[in-house]
Amino acid sequence: MCLIPCLLSLISFPSPPPMSLVQSTADLRSLLAAERAKGNRIGFVPTMGALHRGHMSLVSAARRECDVVVASIFVNPTQFGPGEDFERYPRTLDADCELLAQENVEYVFAPPVEEVYPPGAQTWVEVQGPATATLEGVRRPGHFRGVTTVVATLFHLVGPDVAYFGQKDYQQTVVLRQMTRDLAFPLEIRVCPTVRDPDGLALSSRNQYLSEPERAQALSLSRGLFSARETFDTGERNPAALRNVVQDTLQSTNGVAIDYVAIVDPETLAPLEGAQSAERCVIAIAARVGKTRLIDNLILGMEPPAPQE
Ligand code: AMP
Repeated sequence: MCLIPCLLSLISFPSPPPMSLVQSTADLRSLLAAERAKGNRIGFVPTMGALHRGHMSLVSAARRECDVVVASIFVNPTQFGPGEDFERYPRTLDADCELLAQENVEYVFAPPVEEVYPPGAQTWVEVQGPATATLEGVRRPGHFRGVTTVVATLFHLVGPDVAYFGQKDYQQTVVLRQMTRDLAFPLEIRVCPTVRDPDGLALSSRNQYLSEPERAQALSLSRGLFSARETFDTGERNPAALRNVVQDTLQSTNGVAIDYVAIVDPETLAPLEGAQSAERCVIAIAARVGKTRLIDNLILGMEPPAPQE
C-alpha cells in the first residue's frame, strides 16, 4: 500500500484567502488599516483595467515583494482629454478579477467615479515643471494633472509601502516619482520593464483597437527602437542620428503618423540635441496607427528596470 497519498490527505495546505472586490473608500480604508495593524507590507498596482501580461508583471512583482497586494481598476476620467477614448476605453472587470484572483491578489479596488472624486471636488495635484512640460505633457494637456490627482488620491486611500508602475509609460514614472518626492508620500516607487509580444509590440490595452493590418504597422514602433539600439551598440551617440533611425523606420511604414520621436535625458526628460552625447538616454515615441495613438520607449546606456518573472 502506498503511504504517500494517505499522508498527503492528512496534511491540510492553507489556501489563500479569497480576493475581495472593494468598491467604497470607507471599506478599503478599514480593510487596509487592519492589514497594516498586522504589520503587513502593502504592494499597490494602480491600473485602468483591461489587464494584460504587462499589468500582471507588476502584480507578480508586488506578490513577490509584499505581504498584501492591492490592485485598483479605475478608468480615470480626468486623465482623458476631449475627443480622447474615455467612453470607448475597454472595461472588462470580470475577466480582470479572474486574472487577479489567479495571482492571489488580496484586494481589488474598483470604485465608481464618485468615490474617487466626491461631488464638488475642487482639488488638483499637478507637477508643474520640466517633467510635464514635454512629450505627453505637451500633446495631451491636462493628462498628467489627471494622473497625479488620481494617483495621489489612491496613495492616500491605500497607503502602500510600494507602488508598481510600468516603464511602458516612461514619462509617467518620472512625473510620479517627482510627485511622490514633492508630497513626501512614505512609499517606494518600483518601475518594471515593458512587456512585449514576441514580435516586439509593447502590450497596451489600446492594442485592442488595432485591426490586423494596423497591428502589423504598429510593429514599426518597436522595430524603430530596436534598430536605434543596434546603432547605439555600434557606438553612435549623436542624438539626431539615433532619432533618424527611428524616424526612418516609422516614415517608411504606411499608415503610421509620427506624433514625436524624442531622445531625452532619462532623469530630466530634457531633449538631447546638437553635439550633446546620448550616452544615457531614453528614446520616446508617440505615433498614430489609424485612429489609435500608441507610445513606446527604450532606455539606452543604462540599466533598464530589473526584469520581472
Ligand atoms: P494602465 O492600465 O494603462 O493605466 O496601466 C497601468 C500600469 O501598467 C501602468 O503603470 C503602466 O505603465 C503599466 N503597463 C501598461 N502596459 C505595460 C507593459 N506592456 N509592460 C509593463 N507595464 C505596463
